[in-house]
Amino acid sequence: MKVTVRFAPSPTGLIHIGNARTALLNALFARRQGGTFVLRFDDTDRERSRRDYADQTEADLAWLGIPPDAVIRQSDRAAIHDDAAERLKAAGRLYPCYETADELERRRRLQLARSLPPIYDRVALALSGAERAGLEAEGRRPHWRFRLNARIVRWTDLVRGPCHVDLESLSDPILVREDGTFPYTLPSVADDLDIGVSHVIRGEDHVTNTGVQIELFEALGGEAPAFGHHNLLTDAGGEGLSKRSGALSLRSLAEEGLEPMAVASLAVLVGSSDAVRPVGTVEELSRLVDLSHISRGPARFEPGELDALNARILHEAPFERVRERLEGSGVGGGEPFWLAVRSNLARLADAARWWKVVAGPVAPAVADREFAAAAARLLPPEPWGAETWAAWTGAVRAETGLKGRALFLPLRLALTGLDHGPELAALLPLIGRERAASRLAGSAAPPS
Ligand code: GLU
Repeated sequence: MKVTVRFAPSPTGLIHIGNARTALLNALFARRQGGTFVLRFDDTDRERSRRDYADQTEADLAWLGIPPDAVIRQSDRAAIHDDAAERLKAAGRLYPCYETADELERRRRLQLARSLPPIYDRVALALSGAERAGLEAEGRRPHWRFRLNARIVRWTDLVRGPCHVDLESLSDPILVREDGTFPYTLPSVADDLDIGVSHVIRGEDHVTNTGVQIELFEALGGEAPAFGHHNLLTDAGGEGLSKRSGALSLRSLAEEGLEPMAVASLAVLVGSSDAVRPVGTVEELSRLVDLSHISRGPARFEPGELDALNARILHEAPFERVRERLEGSGVGGGEPFWLAVRSNLARLADAARWWKVVAGPVAPAVADREFAAAAARLLPPEPWGAETWAAWTGAVRAETGLKGRALFLPLRLALTGLDHGPELAALLPLIGRERAASRLAGSAAPPS
């Protein structure tokens, strides 16, 4: 079977880490199955959909490392949706209803007061042609409901196992509004059919929709895809995330300088039975994800966990993975520099700070000039390598009698201006003899 999946956000806000979870689960599934990952903008709500949100979503997916194979917009596909609606009308599955929102609300309250389930009573289904004409003469325009069969819809969910929805417990859903526009349900199913979606992977807030949608796939003469409903990410307080608040948006996480793979690892692995761990590449992540291992409980997002993962990803990152970004931000030193500093980084941008410590200028802190002068005299001739630090400090110890912290801290302060930092054994050859000598002499930059 050809595998096609889709991530289908409405472009009404910035996508957040919870949306990233859905996008990644789809994209990784497609990768594992050699399938196609489609980004579909559910942008039929003209008022709230915005092109800049859609463009940002595309940029966010690229940043995460999962650019889609194709992008489609529901707003370009009205003919497909209209055709589906017409076919349903012709088959007698869509029926016109004339109640106003107020009337429906009043009926609902009455039902609740009588301890009845608040389900649409299908009064409109019994209207005669004359009654309908009368209502239309009053100026009422119909909205259209989908007549559900009295049945229990069952499917084997890729995440949750056997699932069912009793359609008799639901109101016939409105598929076409008074003004002829469509709420989410019909365009979604018509497009899934049209583009041949084989697996719908989305949040568990859609489980009930799936009952209706399977019925709709069948009413349109198609075969329903497989479904998988994953648990939703919540914030640290257990609250759901919202596109409207902008909190934890991918754009803000990128702006904070987080690694895309830290965000992706957490978005995918949190709440799964596998421990969250740093994963270096999307390929690797795709091998770790198994929809049937996603837990049913809520997946709580702890911001501290993201920082910790980010640091661990940097600490393990090979040079090739970061080379372009380092060079782009003016950081030199190549692989030796990267290997020297990576375990001191919380964010990649911190590398620039350490590069400045290597390349200067730094403000050396020299408290004991005599000691520093002795150390400078003992600097071996270049070329310098991995052994230089041990050989040099051995010579300084032999001459000054200082050892341990008393020896190393003043050297560090003089060479870097700081009392902490990456291993000096690795930094010293990068600093080089000229700069080291001038710093030991208390000068910020070598004399030119
Ligand atoms: N636009 C819907 C949403 O964002 C898509 C749901 C689906 O995947 O079918 O919730």
